[in-house]
Amino acid sequence: MKKIMLTGDRPTGKLHVGHYVGSLRRRVELQNTGDFDDIFIMIADAQALTDNADNPEKVRQNIIEVALDYLACGLDPEKSTLFIQSQVPELCELSFYYMNLVTVSRLQRNPTVKAEIQMRNFEASIPVGFFTYPISQAADITAFKATTVPVGEDQMPMLEQTREIVHKFNSVYGETLVDPKILLPENEACLRLPGIDGKAKMSKSLNNCIYLSEEPEEIQKKVFSMFTDPNHIRIEDPGSLEGNTVFTYLDAFCRPEYFPEFLPEYKNLDELKEHYQRGGLGDMKVKRFLNNVLQAELEPIRNRRKEFQKDIPAVYEILRKGSIKAEAVAAQTLKEVKAAMKINYFDDAELIQEQAERFGE
Ligand code: ATP
Ligand code: MG
Repeated sequence: MKKIMLTGDRPTGKLHVGHYVGSLRRRVELQNTGDFDDIFIMIADAQALTDNADNPEKVRQNIIEVALDYLACGLDPEKSTLFIQSQVPELCELSFYYMNLVTVSRLQRNPTVKAEIQMRNFEASIPVGFFTYPISQAADITAFKATTVPVGEDQMPMLEQTREIVHKFNSVYGETLVDPKILLPENEACLRLPGIDGKAKMSKSLNNCIYLSEEPEEIQKKVFSMFTDPNHIRIEDPGSLEGNTVFTYLDAFCRPEYFPEFLPEYKNLDELKEHYQRGGLGDMKVKRFLNNVLQAELEPIRNRRKEFQKDIPAVYEILRKGSIKAEAVAAQTLKEVKAAMKINYFDDAELIQEQAERFGE
């Protein structure tokens, strides 16, 4: 069976380091292994409109920001198809048919959607489109026959919903859709990177982000203001790693080579953690180290972004070409779906013959 990757992001803001460790870094690594037959990376503008209906300009402005972040991180249009969701109308048609395979109560049970409804104060007035976005995500994934979906932990319920739709569809209409597998980050800290406030996950909607394109001074300011252990008051006090955002970020970003480069008095992260827990290691020293680590990780991304920013029409051209390719693939799947559902009347010579005979009698 072919190996196909699909994943994407909502153009509701620039991408942040949570996206990077949760999915983007993995996509680039997988892209560069050459193991995949096809890779589709989607800018989910139609999904972003489900909770930004009154602010389409926000979505429109952020498409290019996300595309620049993709290219800056090393997604390569020669190897990966970068496209815009709304430019592939077949996805809407698939969603429409999948809607019949899902109950309202099933959608109501989705824990991520539940949390998002609360966060947006939608309780009394949930837009139907927002409520059903897990179904539209199933269309996105299955349209490309994706086998692998690299995402953060918040996407687990979406993948489960997709798999249910695939199983239901295949059992009612015959084997047609491909069952996708979720690919979560291996590192615990990357499953759901917290915001710099230490609360919840880093999210564009919560204003607690370090953006991939952030300038060095801004990164440092954010790192220095980060949440640590509130009970670690004097340097000699023992410190706790539990919920300590600075250490969570080190888990997510630190590479072994950063110790000889920036903090040679420690061999590795375990040693640093041990000293912190024992007492005698100040927060500022750890923050300065994290700042160095993040600066080293983000500098090449920021510089590449600035290069791509010099030719914006070329970036739109990449998305246009990608969208054309994506549409061709989705159209083929839709054709197969309609054939399985037997709603391909005009291609069905047998049906026409059968009806002719019925009326000929
Ligand atoms: P929004 O607030 O508009 O929903 P978001 O920051 O949650 O934005 P999405 O576009 O919804 O970002 O998510 C894109 C991808 O990034 C998904 O695969 C998601 O799992 C992953 N992701 C987002 N935030 C984090 C995070 N803090 N840690 C790990 N992965 C994340
Ligand atoms: Mg989100």
